Amino acid sequence: MRRALASLCAVAVWLAGCATNPATGEKQFSLISEGQEIQMGLEADPSIVGSMGLDPDSGRQRYVRELGLRLARVSERPNLPWTFRVIDDPVVNAFAVPGGHIYVTRGILAHLNSEAELASVLGHEIGHVTARHSVTQMSRQQIAQLGLVVGTVLKPELSRYAGIAAQGLGILFLKYSRDDESQADRLGLRYIRRGGYDAHRMPEVFSLLERVSQASGGGRVPEWLATHPNPGNRRGAIEQQIAALPAESLGTVVNRDPYLRRIDGVVFGDNPRDGFFKGTAFFQPDLRFRITFPQGWATQNQRQAVLGVSAQQDALMQLSLSEQATPEAAAQAFFAQQGVRGAPGRGSIHGFAAAGGAFSALTEDSTALAGKVVFVAYDGRIYQLLAYAPQPRWSAYAGVADQAIASFDRLTDAAILAVQPWRVQLVSLPQAMTIEDFARRYPAPVPPATMALVNNVDPGTRFGSGTLVKRIVGLPLP
Ligand SMILES: [Zn+2]
Repeated sequence: MRRALASLCAVAVWLAGCATNPATGEKQFSLISEGQEIQMGLEADPSIVGSMGLDPDSGRQRYVRELGLRLARVSERPNLPWTFRVIDDPVVNAFAVPGGHIYVTRGILAHLNSEAELASVLGHEIGHVTARHSVTQMSRQQIAQLGLVVGTVLKPELSRYAGIAAQGLGILFLKYSRDDESQADRLGLRYIRRGGYDAHRMPEVFSLLERVSQASGGGRVPEWLATHPNPGNRRGAIEQQIAALPAESLGTVVNRDPYLRRIDGVVFGDNPRDGFFKGTAFFQPDLRFRITFPQGWATQNQRQAVLGVSAQQDALMQLSLSEQATPEAAAQAFFAQQGVRGAPGRGSIHGFAAAGGAFSALTEDSTALAGKVVFVAYDGRIYQLLAYAPQPRWSAYAGVADQAIASFDRLTDAAILAVQPWRVQLVSLPQAMTIEDFARRYPAPVPPATMALVNNVDPGTRFGSGTLVKRIVGLPLP
């Protein structure tokens, strides 16, 4: 595909853009100018930050930003408006958006073990940007769709559910080709060498990601591997490149301990303060409410909404915040939407003022929906509880949806209100010990295999006295 585009360059040079890429030296054909690319990134970045959230630790943000900028400045596109952010997400992931916006999750930070490894991840992502991998894949239509990242298609509130945001972001997470991956690896290697980092740490990152992938039982592939496929042997390929380089050009900086000190205290795994499920019961300790979704439904706690989907995937329920000041105003606004019919009334749920009722709606593609929406005032906020299905299927769900909506209540369980996330905590070993000894001596809410994983060592590995080792601290969910 890439090759075909390159030969197209010759005849299409008068079109929008055919230029030699400064990083790869290849002729590249793109409908997107650098100015558009930058604009695209500037528009996407707030959407990503808004929908995924940032790690609240400003010291960690600054550390990653400064490291990223050092590497970007030695790249072939130093003048892009580069940003480097830590996303508040437990999955092991890193990704880049055209125009120079790069994101690493707190999940990948918890698993990396040195600044050189982090530099390898950032260098690889910088490589995707300097080589314009996403940009060359995008069509004009996709660019147009980017405007929808936080927009809506269906107009009514209903559309909020429809995963529009996820679809918009999905465009940014195009799966890279095998060639793109190899090229980003090569460029990443170039940048970390220019930054003085020990290139031998880069293959370590591939091992780590493989371990994380294996540990998740093949079920939950780390996101990084999902968008950055590993069809060939990337580790082997990069090791060969390193072996072919003069030893003195490889850099020596590893910065293991300084890196570990930066991630001391980072949240590990899902943060229950963001809300969590036990079965289909959902608890939100910060907002102090609970609600129980219908039995057997699949559930998901997203940043801006809590979702439930019926087993047949033909009915949906969503809890989110309304921007209106009162339940009545929120209900009025909902029922005033084009295509929405119904007569809202007033009531209460567990003593909290509520307004809403049954509705029917026509989507823009003329699908008839039926459902129920209730807005409830609780603790200074207006919550929207919305359930719906295609019109012919609704009668099968109206009963369980009613029950679920009526289950919204204050959260009073003291243990749940006080729940805290697990965190990475550094231990300076008082004496030499194996990772198994370590796991016994420093109990954790995760199995010893996970302790080996986050320290990127094999079971049986022995640490010397004074070594900094990560442990996970925290309690099981109440
Ligand atoms: Zn990649």
